Amino acid sequence: MSGRAALASDLLLEGLNPSQAAAAAHGSGPLLIIAGAGTGKTATLAHRVAHLIASGTPPGRILLLTFTRRAAGEMLRRVESLLRAPHGAGANGSVPGATAQAPTKVWGGTFHAVGVRLLRLHGRSIGLDPGFTILDRYDSEDLMNLVRTELGLSSRERRFPQKGTCLDIYSRCTNTGDRLDSVLETAFPWCREHADDLRALFGGYVDRKAEQSVLDYDDILLFLRGLLRDPLAGPAVRARFDCVLVDEYQDTNAIQAEIVRLLRPDGTGITVVGDDAQSIYSFRAATVRNILDFPLEHPEATVVTLEQNYRSTAPLLEVSNRVIAQAGERYEKSLWSTKEEGAPPALVLCLDEDEQTDFVVETVLEQRESGLPLRRQAVLFRAGHHSLALELELDRRNIPYAKYGGLKFVEMAHVKDLVAFLRLAENPRDILAGTRVLLLLPGVGPARARELLSLATPSADEAGPGPFAGWSEQRPPTASAASWPALVALMNDLAGPDPGELSTQIHRIRSVYAPLLERAYDNAAARLRDLEQLEHLAAGFSDRTQFLSELTLDPPSYTGDYAGPPYLDEDYLILSTMHSAKGLEWDAVYVINAADGNIPSDMATGSPEEIDEELRLFYVALTRAKEWLYVCCPLRYYPVPRRPTDTHGYAQLTRFISPEVRPYFVERLARPGADGEATLGPGARMETGGVAEIRRRLKESW
Ligand code: ATP
Ligand code: MG
Repeated sequence: MSGRAALASDLLLEGLNPSQAAAAAHGSGPLLIIAGAGTGKTATLAHRVAHLIASGTPPGRILLLTFTRRAAGEMLRRVESLLRAPHGAGANGSVPGATAQAPTKVWGGTFHAVGVRLLRLHGRSIGLDPGFTILDRYDSEDLMNLVRTELGLSSRERRFPQKGTCLDIYSRCTNTGDRLDSVLETAFPWCREHADDLRALFGGYVDRKAEQSVLDYDDILLFLRGLLRDPLAGPAVRARFDCVLVDEYQDTNAIQAEIVRLLRPDGTGITVVGDDAQSIYSFRAATVRNILDFPLEHPEATVVTLEQNYRSTAPLLEVSNRVIAQAGERYEKSLWSTKEEGAPPALVLCLDEDEQTDFVVETVLEQRESGLPLRRQAVLFRAGHHSLALELELDRRNIPYAKYGGLKFVEMAHVKDLVAFLRLAENPRDILAGTRVLLLLPGVGPARARELLSLATPSADEAGPGPFAGWSEQRPPTASAASWPALVALMNDLAGPDPGELSTQIHRIRSVYAPLLERAYDNAAARLRDLEQLEHLAAGFSDRTQFLSELTLDPPSYTGDYAGPPYLDEDYLILSTMHSAKGLEWDAVYVINAADGNIPSDMATGSPEEIDEELRLFYVALTRAKEWLYVCCPLRYYPVPRRPTDTHGYAQLTRFISPEVRPYFVERLARPGADGEATLGPGARMETGGVAEIRRRLKESW
């Protein structure tokens, strides 16, 4: 590093406290930052990436793994502005080489997104066709259901588990590496009697995915691990990166931890960051052991802890600290804030949900009147459907909002339809996408769709007839006679060598799909507008493959999620599930429905571990607030749909606001006055036979 660059990279650390600066400028040994909420872990990670770049690491050799695409994007923007900031370093006031070393070249994203990129680049060497498409959770359930029906398991006398449960069991086996029997015993005891059938079902599911060249979310991680374990492909992937940095490490699972190990087997260049008190994804097989055991696995690791909370005022921090102190097992941390002054957290008692909704809407508007934009305020809740009453009221009053978590834009039926055309063009063997497209045609049923799809075969030769050429000779049902030729021409073009720009492709699909949509759904005008949005959205993507991967892996919550500058001016309130609020912060936070049964959820009160996870989730919600925190509890619930008889149940304040914690809130009424596996050592060889072998082992694991 030149003297000038050294000076510049030191200047990058300005504003960080000594522990943060030490972490950001740490050398190449393994590094763990374990610290409480709001202590600047993510900020330090961004500084570390900037520091690495400023000290000469090529951005393309840095891998930054985050929990969402949005988080990666935000962090890289921060890196860019750090590198561009006038530190008085160079003559032009920026870090030398910063513009030449564009941080956009950093490999940033989720484990899944990065996995897909690497599998497309290197997958062939383990027998994976790089043209695979990806099944989202709903597709995976549908495929599971298809196999279940094929095997005749749906029509049993004894009720067979639902498709969603089957997928959960399957996924738990693959992500924990535990055998089916033990997973059933511990997590799904009511399904024990179906063990043999489940084994057959999972075998069929694996085969179907292979035949159709589709990967589900779990496959992406399994195959990435397989790629890294492969004696030929592994070193090639490893050779790409010097540094691997992971945020929110407390929510990684065993496979993800192994992937990190396999990427940097000697531990150099690894930085992991997280907070054990915020681990909230064990229901998806994440294990807090990854972060707690990191120093054991890497005895030479440097461990940095941070104690100053920069986010919240002292009164808010006090209440969060009291809440998390109730956790059964945790690492003691003492967090302190320099923001002594501030409004105390409010516990808002509401007569019923309507009153809660009014309180939130009115307070949000008051805050906006006094200068706090909607975007700096968020309403948080345990389950996606808890915000429905609020959404209705916001709609009624024309207050714009965006929702994180819950049903996503791309999960809406008509958006899925349009995406199915693209997926089928991308991978003609993708039966689910193909069936979805063909069933839109009047008169085409599942059997006919299967028949037509069997005629669609990927063509090896670009000049040869397209994969859908065989459809031209097929006679469509009379009811579809008008749509059929246009559909065949569309599919042949989309799958052909020159399908055109992605937004043009979507435009063409829209014109063929619009009449089918009008026939299939009500409210067609609004749905067609969504599809127009999708076309705009697509303009930001370089190609169809990338678009489809991103859409499936990290679906936008709303169209603005991908929006360019015009949308960024818009002001809107954030509604978010507590899970999706992880890592984020707002000036004002409203936690709604803070009643027992909602938080802790009555779906998750089986064991002390589950209750503890709910407590951590509540802690995550509280620690999102910078200045104002309102925790609302409606005392009375109406069953849905509300009946004229006005029957209702009484709610109890969440047990997490115990009598010891409650005095730290100011109480008010909403309406005043009323009532892995071994580390791969250098030179070690792992015996894998590529994807086929992984699939075989997968089948053996139940
Ligand atoms: P979480 O556990 O919720 O993910 P975190 O530890 O990642 O939190 P950050 O989001 O990085 O914390 O930081 C919290 C807030 O504190 C941010 O607004 C950040 O800009 C600010 N911050 C962090 N470090 C400093 C600092 N040294 N000086 C001033 N502000 C800071
Ligand atoms: Mg963070």
